[in-house]
Amino acid sequence: MSKNHDIPPMHPASAMDFLPLAQLRDVQFIRLRDMVQRAYDHVALFRQRMDERKLKPADLRSMDDIVKLPFTVKSDLRDAYPFGLLASPLQDVVRFHASSGTTGKPIVVGYTREDIQDWTQAMVRSFAACGVHAGDVIQNAYGYGLFTGGLGAHYGAEGIGASVVPISGGNTERQIMLMKDFGVTVICCTPSYFLHLMERAVESGVNLKDLPLRTGVFGAEPWTEGMRERIEAGTAIRAYDIYGLTEIVGPGVAMECVHQTGPHIFEDLFYPEIVDPETLEPLPDGTEGELVLTTLCKRAMPMIRYRTRDITAVTSAKCPCGRTLRRICRIGRRSDDMLIIRGVNLFPSQIEAALLRVEGTLPHYQIIVDRQKGLDTLEVQVEVTNEAFSDTVGALEQLQKRLAHSIESITGLRPAVKLVAPRTLQRSEGKAKRVMDKRLM
Ligand code: ADP
Ligand code: ZN
Repeated sequence: MSKNHDIPPMHPASAMDFLPLAQLRDVQFIRLRDMVQRAYDHVALFRQRMDERKLKPADLRSMDDIVKLPFTVKSDLRDAYPFGLLASPLQDVVRFHASSGTTGKPIVVGYTREDIQDWTQAMVRSFAACGVHAGDVIQNAYGYGLFTGGLGAHYGAEGIGASVVPISGGNTERQIMLMKDFGVTVICCTPSYFLHLMERAVESGVNLKDLPLRTGVFGAEPWTEGMRERIEAGTAIRAYDIYGLTEIVGPGVAMECVHQTGPHIFEDLFYPEIVDPETLEPLPDGTEGELVLTTLCKRAMPMIRYRTRDITAVTSAKCPCGRTLRRICRIGRRSDDMLIIRGVNLFPSQIEAALLRVEGTLPHYQIIVDRQKGLDTLEVQVEVTNEAFSDTVGALEQLQKRLAHSIESITGLRPAVKLVAPRTLQRSEGKAKRVMDKRLM
Protein backbone atom coordinates (compact mmCIF):
# COMPACT_ATOMS: atom_id res chain seq x y z
CA MET A 1 0.00 0.00 0.00
CA SER A 2 1.46 3.31 -1.02
CA LYS A 3 -0.17 5.66 1.49
CA ASN A 4 -1.91 5.88 4.76
CA HIS A 5 -5.48 6.71 3.77
CA ASP A 6 -8.44 6.71 6.12
CA ILE A 7 -10.39 3.50 5.78
CA PRO A 8 -14.04 4.41 5.25
CA PRO A 9 -16.77 2.78 7.38
CA MET A 10 -18.04 -0.55 6.06
CA HIS A 11 -21.37 -0.67 4.38
CA PRO A 12 -23.47 -3.55 5.73
CA ALA A 13 -22.58 -6.23 3.23
CA SER A 14 -24.47 -9.44 2.59
CA ALA A 15 -24.55 -12.02 5.40
CA MET A 16 -23.16 -14.38 2.77
CA ASP A 17 -19.86 -12.50 2.94
CA PHE A 18 -19.32 -13.55 6.54
CA LEU A 19 -20.93 -16.99 6.71
CA PRO A 20 -19.09 -19.56 8.84
CA LEU A 21 -17.30 -21.91 6.44
CA ALA A 22 -19.34 -25.04 7.17
CA GLN A 23 -22.52 -23.11 6.48
CA LEU A 24 -21.09 -21.60 3.32
CA ARG A 25 -20.21 -25.08 2.01
CA ASP A 26 -23.78 -26.22 2.76
CA VAL A 27 -25.25 -23.31 0.82
CA GLN A 28 -22.87 -23.98 -2.05
CA PHE A 29 -23.69 -27.63 -2.20
CA ILE A 30 -27.48 -27.17 -2.17
CA ARG A 31 -27.13 -24.65 -4.97
CA LEU A 32 -24.68 -26.81 -6.92
CA ARG A 33 -27.01 -29.79 -6.90
CA ASP A 34 -29.97 -27.74 -8.13
CA MET A 35 -27.90 -26.04 -10.79
CA VAL A 36 -26.40 -29.29 -12.09
CA GLN A 37 -29.87 -30.82 -12.24
CA ARG A 38 -31.13 -27.85 -14.28
CA ALA A 39 -28.15 -28.00 -16.61
CA TYR A 40 -28.58 -31.77 -17.02
CA ASP A 41 -32.27 -31.44 -17.77
CA HIS A 42 -32.05 -28.56 -20.22
CA VAL A 43 -28.61 -28.36 -21.84
CA ALA A 44 -27.80 -31.14 -24.30
CA LEU A 45 -24.03 -30.64 -24.05
CA PHE A 46 -23.93 -31.01 -20.26
CA ARG A 47 -26.24 -34.01 -20.32
CA GLN A 48 -24.14 -35.71 -22.97
CA ARG A 49 -20.88 -35.06 -21.11
CA MET A 50 -22.30 -36.32 -17.83
CA ASP A 51 -23.80 -39.38 -19.49
CA GLU A 52 -20.41 -40.15 -21.02
CA ARG A 53 -19.04 -40.24 -17.46
CA LYS A 54 -22.03 -42.23 -16.24
CA LEU A 55 -22.66 -39.43 -13.80
CA LYS A 56 -26.11 -38.35 -12.63
CA PRO A 57 -26.82 -35.11 -10.74
CA ALA A 58 -27.87 -37.23 -7.72
CA ASP A 59 -24.36 -38.74 -7.59
CA LEU A 60 -23.04 -35.49 -6.15
CA ARG A 61 -22.86 -35.93 -2.37
CA SER A 62 -20.77 -32.97 -1.25
CA MET A 63 -18.91 -29.98 -2.61
CA ASP A 64 -15.82 -32.18 -3.02
CA ASP A 65 -17.64 -34.13 -5.73
CA ILE A 66 -17.48 -31.10 -8.01
CA VAL A 67 -14.24 -32.57 -9.40
CA LYS A 68 -16.29 -35.36 -10.98
CA LEU A 69 -18.05 -32.89 -13.26
CA PRO A 70 -16.79 -32.22 -16.79
CA PHE A 71 -15.01 -28.97 -17.66
CA THR A 72 -16.43 -26.33 -19.99
CA VAL A 73 -14.15 -24.33 -22.29
CA LYS A 74 -14.47 -21.24 -24.41
CA SER A 75 -14.89 -23.20 -27.64
CA ASP A 76 -17.97 -24.89 -26.13
CA LEU A 77 -19.56 -21.45 -25.97
CA ARG A 78 -18.42 -20.62 -29.50
CA ASP A 79 -19.75 -23.89 -30.87
CA ALA A 80 -23.07 -23.25 -29.16
CA TYR A 81 -23.39 -19.78 -30.70
CA PRO A 82 -25.77 -18.13 -30.11
CA PHE A 83 -28.26 -19.95 -27.88
CA GLY A 84 -27.10 -23.57 -27.65
CA LEU A 85 -26.23 -23.47 -23.95
CA LEU A 86 -29.38 -21.79 -22.69
CA ALA A 87 -31.07 -23.72 -19.91
CA SER A 88 -34.11 -21.45 -19.85
CA PRO A 89 -36.69 -20.88 -22.58
CA LEU A 90 -35.99 -17.78 -24.62
CA GLN A 91 -39.03 -15.99 -23.22
CA ASP A 92 -37.46 -16.07 -19.74
CA VAL A 93 -34.27 -14.44 -20.95
CA VAL A 94 -34.42 -10.70 -20.27
CA ARG A 95 -30.91 -9.77 -21.44
CA PHE A 96 -28.00 -10.88 -23.61
CA HIS A 97 -24.39 -9.89 -23.40
CA ALA A 98 -21.42 -10.91 -25.51
CA SER A 99 -17.67 -10.84 -24.95
CA SER A 100 -15.47 -8.58 -27.00
CA GLY A 101 -14.74 -11.56 -29.27
CA THR A 102 -11.33 -10.64 -30.54
CA THR A 103 -11.30 -13.74 -32.69
CA GLY A 104 -14.25 -15.17 -34.59
CA LYS A 105 -17.78 -15.24 -33.28
CA PRO A 106 -18.45 -13.64 -29.91
CA ILE A 107 -19.40 -15.57 -26.81
CA VAL A 108 -23.06 -14.99 -26.05
CA VAL A 109 -24.58 -15.23 -22.59
CA GLY A 110 -28.21 -14.87 -21.48
CA TYR A 111 -29.75 -13.82 -18.16
CA THR A 112 -33.17 -14.34 -16.62
CA ARG A 113 -34.65 -11.66 -14.39
CA GLU A 114 -33.35 -13.55 -11.32
CA ASP A 115 -29.90 -13.78 -12.90
CA ILE A 116 -29.84 -10.01 -13.29
CA GLN A 117 -30.89 -9.66 -9.65
CA ASP A 118 -28.09 -11.99 -8.48
CA TRP A 119 -25.55 -10.15 -10.59
CA THR A 120 -26.77 -6.80 -9.26
CA GLN A 121 -26.39 -8.20 -5.76
CA ALA A 122 -22.84 -9.32 -6.50
CA MET A 123 -22.03 -5.81 -7.72
CA VAL A 124 -23.71 -4.22 -4.68
CA ARG A 125 -21.56 -6.45 -2.48
CA SER A 126 -18.53 -5.45 -4.56
CA PHE A 127 -19.16 -1.76 -4.04
CA ALA A 128 -19.90 -2.31 -0.36
CA ALA A 129 -16.64 -4.24 0.04
CA CYS A 130 -14.58 -1.21 -0.95
CA GLY A 131 -16.58 1.24 1.14
CA VAL A 132 -18.89 2.67 -1.52
CA HIS A 133 -22.32 3.57 -0.17
CA ALA A 134 -25.61 5.38 -0.80
CA GLY A 135 -24.84 9.02 -1.38
CA ASP A 136 -21.74 8.34 -3.45
CA VAL A 137 -21.66 9.74 -6.97
CA ILE A 138 -20.38 7.00 -9.25
CA GLN A 139 -19.01 7.82 -12.68
CA ASN A 140 -19.34 4.66 -14.69
CA ALA A 141 -16.83 4.78 -17.53
CA TYR A 142 -17.01 1.08 -18.37
CA GLY A 143 -18.46 0.62 -21.85
CA TYR A 144 -22.23 0.23 -22.06
CA GLY A 145 -23.61 -2.23 -24.57
CA LEU A 146 -22.92 -5.87 -25.24
CA PHE A 147 -19.82 -5.66 -23.01
CA THR A 148 -20.83 -6.62 -19.47
CA GLY A 149 -18.80 -3.89 -17.73
CA GLY A 150 -21.12 -0.92 -18.22
CA LEU A 151 -24.50 -2.38 -17.33
CA GLY A 152 -23.07 -4.65 -14.65
CA ALA A 153 -21.55 -1.76 -12.72
CA HIS A 154 -24.59 0.40 -13.46
CA TYR A 155 -27.12 -1.92 -11.84
CA GLY A 156 -24.87 -2.43 -8.83
CA ALA A 157 -24.33 1.29 -8.43
CA GLU A 158 -28.06 1.99 -8.47
CA GLY A 159 -28.62 -1.03 -6.24
CA ILE A 160 -26.42 0.36 -3.51
CA GLY A 161 -28.27 3.64 -3.67
CA ALA A 162 -25.54 5.75 -5.24
CA SER A 163 -26.12 8.36 -7.95
CA VAL A 164 -24.84 7.00 -11.25
CA VAL A 165 -23.30 9.02 -14.06
CA PRO A 166 -23.68 6.54 -16.96
CA ILE A 167 -21.10 8.15 -19.21
CA SER A 168 -19.64 4.91 -20.68
CA GLY A 169 -16.10 4.88 -22.12
CA GLY A 170 -14.45 7.63 -24.13
CA ASN A 171 -15.18 11.34 -24.44
CA THR A 172 -12.38 12.07 -22.03
CA GLU A 173 -12.78 15.88 -21.85
CA ARG A 174 -16.39 15.49 -20.85
CA GLN A 175 -15.50 12.80 -18.30
CA ILE A 176 -13.21 15.28 -16.56
CA MET A 177 -15.76 18.09 -16.70
CA LEU A 178 -18.53 15.96 -15.16
CA MET A 179 -16.20 14.49 -12.59
CA LYS A 180 -15.49 17.99 -11.37
CA ASP A 181 -18.95 19.54 -11.77
CA PHE A 182 -20.93 16.59 -10.31
CA GLY A 183 -18.60 16.03 -7.37
CA VAL A 184 -17.91 12.44 -8.43
CA THR A 185 -16.61 10.31 -5.55
CA VAL A 186 -16.17 6.93 -7.28
CA ILE A 187 -14.84 6.11 -10.75
CA CYS A 188 -15.33 2.76 -12.49
CA CYS A 189 -13.23 1.97 -15.57
CA THR A 190 -10.26 -0.04 -16.78
CA PRO A 191 -7.02 0.92 -15.04
CA SER A 192 -5.48 1.85 -18.38
CA TYR A 193 -8.33 4.25 -19.15
CA PHE A 194 -7.97 5.83 -15.74
CA LEU A 195 -4.32 6.58 -16.47
CA HIS A 196 -5.51 8.36 -19.57
CA LEU A 197 -8.03 10.34 -17.51
CA MET A 198 -5.32 11.31 -15.03
CA GLU A 199 -3.13 12.61 -17.78
CA ARG A 200 -5.87 14.57 -19.50
CA ALA A 201 -6.98 16.08 -16.20
CA VAL A 202 -3.51 17.57 -15.78
CA GLU A 203 -3.70 19.02 -19.28
CA SER A 204 -7.11 20.52 -18.55
CA GLY A 205 -5.75 22.17 -15.44
CA VAL A 206 -7.79 19.93 -13.12
CA ASN A 207 -6.01 18.55 -10.09
CA LEU A 208 -7.73 15.28 -9.28
CA LYS A 209 -6.42 15.52 -5.73
CA ASP A 210 -8.64 18.58 -5.21
CA LEU A 211 -11.80 16.71 -6.21
CA PRO A 212 -13.93 14.54 -3.87
CA LEU A 213 -12.89 11.48 -5.93
CA ARG A 214 -11.64 8.88 -3.45
CA THR A 215 -12.40 5.40 -4.84
CA GLY A 216 -11.49 3.67 -8.09
CA VAL A 217 -13.08 0.36 -9.10
CA PHE A 218 -10.68 -0.95 -11.70
CA GLY A 219 -10.74 -4.19 -13.64
CA ALA A 220 -11.51 -5.96 -16.92
CA GLU A 221 -7.80 -6.23 -17.73
CA PRO A 222 -4.63 -7.30 -15.96
CA TRP A 223 -2.77 -4.64 -13.98
CA THR A 224 0.06 -4.72 -11.48
CA GLU A 225 0.78 -3.50 -7.95
CA GLY A 226 3.19 -1.03 -9.55
CA MET A 227 0.28 0.39 -11.52
CA ARG A 228 -1.81 0.66 -8.36
CA GLU A 229 1.00 2.62 -6.69
CA ARG A 230 1.28 5.00 -9.62
CA ILE A 231 -2.48 5.63 -9.63
CA GLU A 232 -2.68 6.18 -5.88
CA ALA A 233 0.35 8.45 -5.84
CA GLY A 234 -1.13 10.71 -8.53
CA THR A 235 -4.60 11.07 -6.97
CA ALA A 236 -6.34 10.98 -3.61
CA ILE A 237 -8.07 7.70 -4.45
CA ARG A 238 -7.66 4.17 -3.30
CA ALA A 239 -7.60 1.83 -6.28
CA TYR A 240 -9.46 -1.48 -5.95
CA ASP A 241 -9.25 -4.55 -8.14
CA ILE A 242 -12.50 -6.02 -9.48
CA TYR A 243 -12.56 -9.26 -11.45
CA GLY A 244 -15.13 -10.87 -13.68
CA LEU A 245 -15.77 -12.41 -17.06
CA THR A 246 -18.68 -12.58 -19.47
CA GLU A 247 -18.95 -16.37 -19.45
CA ILE A 248 -19.64 -16.39 -15.72
CA VAL A 249 -21.65 -13.19 -15.32
CA GLY A 250 -19.54 -10.09 -15.99
CA PRO A 251 -17.88 -7.86 -13.37
CA GLY A 252 -18.53 -8.75 -9.74
CA VAL A 253 -17.26 -12.34 -9.65
CA ALA A 254 -14.67 -11.14 -7.14
CA MET A 255 -13.85 -7.80 -5.57
CA GLU A 256 -11.29 -6.37 -3.19
CA CYS A 257 -12.26 -5.09 0.22
CA VAL A 258 -10.84 -1.94 1.81
CA HIS A 259 -7.74 -3.85 2.90
CA GLN A 260 -6.64 -4.33 -0.72
CA THR A 261 -5.61 -7.92 -0.16
CA GLY A 262 -6.84 -9.29 -3.49
CA PRO A 263 -10.41 -9.83 -4.71
CA HIS A 264 -12.76 -11.87 -2.48
CA ILE A 265 -14.72 -14.31 -4.63
CA PHE A 266 -18.47 -14.24 -4.10
CA GLU A 267 -18.28 -17.95 -3.47
CA ASP A 268 -21.93 -18.48 -2.68
CA LEU A 269 -22.59 -17.55 -6.34
CA PHE A 270 -19.38 -18.53 -8.14
CA TYR A 271 -17.46 -21.54 -6.91
CA PRO A 272 -13.71 -21.36 -7.54
CA GLU A 273 -11.21 -24.16 -8.16
CA ILE A 274 -7.61 -24.04 -9.27
CA VAL A 275 -6.35 -26.74 -11.62
CA ASP A 276 -3.07 -27.52 -13.27
CA PRO A 277 -3.60 -26.16 -16.78
CA GLU A 278 -1.75 -29.13 -18.34
CA THR A 279 -3.01 -32.12 -16.36
CA LEU A 280 -6.28 -30.51 -15.15
CA GLU A 281 -5.61 -31.98 -11.70
CA PRO A 282 -7.14 -29.90 -8.87
CA LEU A 283 -4.56 -27.90 -6.90
CA PRO A 284 -4.81 -26.89 -3.23
CA ASP A 285 -5.42 -23.32 -2.03
CA GLY A 286 -2.28 -21.25 -2.23
CA THR A 287 -0.96 -22.95 -5.37
CA GLU A 288 -0.94 -21.15 -8.68
CA GLY A 289 -2.83 -22.62 -11.59
CA GLU A 290 -5.79 -21.99 -13.87
CA LEU A 291 -8.91 -20.57 -12.26
CA VAL A 292 -12.00 -22.70 -12.89
CA LEU A 293 -15.40 -21.28 -11.97
CA THR A 294 -18.83 -22.85 -11.54
CA THR A 295 -21.94 -20.67 -11.36
CA LEU A 296 -24.10 -21.85 -8.48
CA CYS A 297 -27.26 -19.86 -9.18
CA LYS A 298 -27.30 -18.94 -12.87
CA ARG A 299 -30.56 -19.97 -14.49
CA ALA A 300 -30.44 -18.91 -18.13
CA MET A 301 -26.91 -20.10 -18.72
CA PRO A 302 -25.28 -22.17 -16.00
CA MET A 303 -21.54 -22.77 -16.36
CA ILE A 304 -20.02 -25.93 -14.98
CA ARG A 305 -16.30 -25.88 -14.19
CA TYR A 306 -15.55 -23.18 -16.74
CA ARG A 307 -11.83 -22.94 -17.52
CA THR A 308 -11.14 -19.20 -17.40
CA ARG A 309 -7.57 -19.37 -18.76
CA ASP A 310 -6.71 -16.89 -16.03
CA ILE A 311 -3.70 -17.92 -13.99
CA THR A 312 -3.87 -17.19 -10.28
CA ALA A 313 -3.99 -18.80 -6.85
CA VAL A 314 -6.92 -18.92 -4.45
CA THR A 315 -6.11 -18.12 -0.86
CA SER A 316 -8.11 -18.98 2.23
CA ALA A 317 -5.82 -16.92 4.50
CA LYS A 318 -7.84 -14.71 6.84
CA CYS A 319 -8.52 -11.15 5.74
CA PRO A 320 -8.82 -8.42 8.39
CA CYS A 321 -12.30 -7.52 7.05
CA GLY A 322 -13.66 -10.81 8.42
CA ARG A 323 -15.11 -12.04 5.14
CA THR A 324 -14.97 -15.82 4.96
CA LEU A 325 -14.89 -15.65 1.17
CA ARG A 326 -11.63 -16.84 -0.30
CA ARG A 327 -9.55 -14.45 -2.38
CA ILE A 328 -7.76 -14.64 -5.70
CA CYS A 329 -4.29 -13.29 -6.11
CA ARG A 330 -3.76 -10.62 -8.71
CA ILE A 331 -4.34 -12.05 -12.16
CA GLY A 332 -1.23 -11.05 -13.98
CA ARG A 333 -1.41 -13.83 -16.47
CA ARG A 334 -4.03 -14.95 -18.88
CA SER A 335 -3.00 -17.91 -20.96
CA ASP A 336 -4.50 -16.22 -24.05
CA ASP A 337 -2.06 -13.33 -23.64
CA MET A 338 1.01 -15.47 -23.37
CA LEU A 339 3.71 -14.71 -25.89
CA ILE A 340 6.34 -17.24 -26.76
CA ILE A 341 9.54 -15.49 -27.70
CA ARG A 342 12.58 -17.56 -28.59
CA GLY A 343 10.93 -20.38 -26.69
CA VAL A 344 10.46 -18.32 -23.54
CA ASN A 345 6.95 -17.70 -22.17
CA LEU A 346 6.25 -14.04 -21.59
CA PHE A 347 3.24 -12.18 -20.20
CA PRO A 348 2.68 -8.46 -20.78
CA SER A 349 2.18 -7.88 -17.05
CA GLN A 350 5.77 -9.03 -16.42
CA ILE A 351 6.97 -6.23 -18.64
CA GLU A 352 4.70 -3.78 -16.82
CA ALA A 353 6.07 -4.83 -13.45
CA ALA A 354 9.66 -4.54 -14.71
CA LEU A 355 9.14 -1.08 -16.23
CA LEU A 356 7.34 0.45 -13.26
CA ARG A 357 10.13 -0.57 -10.90
CA VAL A 358 12.39 1.95 -12.58
CA GLU A 359 12.17 5.65 -11.81
CA GLY A 360 11.60 8.00 -14.72
CA THR A 361 9.11 5.77 -16.54
CA LEU A 362 5.46 6.51 -17.16
CA PRO A 363 2.88 3.69 -17.04
CA HIS A 364 2.41 3.68 -20.82
CA TYR A 365 4.14 1.02 -22.82
CA GLN A 366 3.85 -1.14 -25.89
CA ILE A 367 5.38 -4.50 -26.68
CA ILE A 368 6.37 -5.22 -30.26
CA VAL A 369 7.27 -8.73 -31.29
CA ASP A 370 8.63 -9.52 -34.72
CA ARG A 371 10.75 -12.10 -36.50
CA GLN A 372 13.94 -11.23 -38.31
CA LYS A 373 16.03 -13.79 -40.15
CA GLY A 374 14.07 -16.52 -38.44
CA LEU A 375 14.70 -15.12 -34.95
CA ASP A 376 12.06 -13.61 -32.67
CA THR A 377 12.70 -10.02 -31.65
CA LEU A 378 11.27 -8.20 -28.67
CA GLU A 379 11.02 -4.44 -28.51
CA VAL A 380 9.54 -2.56 -25.58
CA GLN A 381 8.57 1.05 -26.10
CA VAL A 382 7.98 3.03 -22.94
CA GLU A 383 7.14 6.63 -22.27
CA VAL A 384 9.40 8.44 -19.87
CA THR A 385 8.80 11.63 -17.91
CA ASN A 386 9.54 14.98 -19.51
CA GLU A 387 12.48 15.45 -17.17
CA ALA A 388 13.99 12.11 -18.11
CA PHE A 389 13.34 12.69 -21.78
CA SER A 390 15.15 16.03 -21.82
CA ASP A 391 18.13 14.66 -19.91
CA THR A 392 21.54 14.10 -21.50
CA VAL A 393 22.08 11.34 -24.04
CA GLY A 394 24.24 9.55 -21.51
CA ALA A 395 21.50 9.64 -18.88
CA LEU A 396 18.97 8.33 -21.37
CA GLU A 397 21.26 5.47 -22.29
CA GLN A 398 21.65 4.66 -18.62
CA LEU A 399 17.88 4.59 -18.17
CA GLN A 400 17.52 2.39 -21.23
CA LYS A 401 20.05 -0.05 -19.78
CA ARG A 402 18.36 -0.11 -16.39
CA LEU A 403 15.04 -0.92 -18.06
CA ALA A 404 16.49 -3.66 -20.24
CA HIS A 405 18.14 -5.13 -17.18
CA SER A 406 14.92 -4.95 -15.14
CA ILE A 407 13.01 -6.75 -17.91
CA GLU A 408 15.72 -9.36 -18.31
CA SER A 409 15.81 -10.08 -14.60
CA ILE A 410 12.05 -10.79 -14.57
CA THR A 411 11.58 -12.49 -17.92
CA GLY A 412 14.96 -13.86 -18.86
CA LEU A 413 14.70 -12.08 -22.20
CA ARG A 414 16.80 -9.10 -23.16
CA PRO A 415 14.63 -6.67 -25.13
CA ALA A 416 15.45 -3.66 -27.25
CA VAL A 417 14.12 -0.77 -25.16
CA LYS A 418 12.97 2.36 -26.89
CA LEU A 419 12.31 5.45 -24.77
CA VAL A 420 9.61 7.69 -26.15
CA ALA A 421 8.26 11.11 -25.16
CA PRO A 422 5.14 11.41 -22.98
CA ARG A 423 1.87 11.06 -24.94
CA THR A 424 3.47 9.22 -27.84
CA LEU A 425 1.81 5.83 -27.47
CA GLN A 426 -1.82 5.13 -28.22
CA ARG A 427 -4.24 5.43 -25.28
CA SER A 428 -7.11 3.04 -24.71
CA GLU A 429 -10.69 3.82 -23.76
CA GLY A 430 -11.42 0.29 -22.65
CA LYS A 431 -9.11 -2.70 -22.46
CA ALA A 432 -5.56 -1.71 -23.33
CA LYS A 433 -3.81 -3.39 -26.26
CA ARG A 434 -0.25 -3.76 -25.08
CA VAL A 435 1.10 -6.16 -27.66
CA MET A 436 1.71 -5.88 -31.37
CA ASP A 437 2.79 -9.27 -32.63
CA LYS A 438 4.01 -8.70 -36.16
CA ARG A 439 4.79 -12.40 -36.52
CA LEU A 440 1.06 -12.93 -36.88
CA MET A 441 0.54 -10.19 -39.49
P1 ADP B 1 -12.69 -10.93 -23.27
O1 ADP B 1 -12.32 -12.35 -22.97
O2 ADP B 1 -13.14 -10.69 -24.66
O3 ADP B 1 -11.69 -9.93 -22.77
P2 ADP B 1 -14.39 -10.27 -20.97
O4 ADP B 1 -14.78 -8.86 -21.06
O5 ADP B 1 -15.36 -11.23 -20.47
O6 ADP B 1 -14.00 -10.72 -22.42
O7 ADP B 1 -13.06 -10.31 -20.14
C1 ADP B 1 -12.83 -11.18 -19.07
C2 ADP B 1 -11.35 -11.36 -18.87
O8 ADP B 1 -10.75 -10.09 -18.54
C3 ADP B 1 -11.02 -12.24 -17.72
O9 ADP B 1 -11.07 -13.60 -18.07
C4 ADP B 1 -9.61 -11.79 -17.39
O10 ADP B 1 -8.66 -12.37 -18.26
C5 ADP B 1 -9.66 -10.30 -17.66
N1 ADP B 1 -9.91 -9.58 -16.40
C6 ADP B 1 -11.07 -9.12 -15.92
N2 ADP B 1 -10.88 -8.50 -14.73
C7 ADP B 1 -9.58 -8.59 -14.44
C8 ADP B 1 -8.75 -8.17 -13.34
N3 ADP B 1 -9.23 -7.49 -12.32
N4 ADP B 1 -7.42 -8.48 -13.42
C9 ADP B 1 -6.91 -9.15 -14.46
N5 ADP B 1 -7.61 -9.56 -15.50
C10 ADP B 1 -8.94 -9.29 -15.51
ZN1 ZN C 1 -11.20 -8.55 3.03
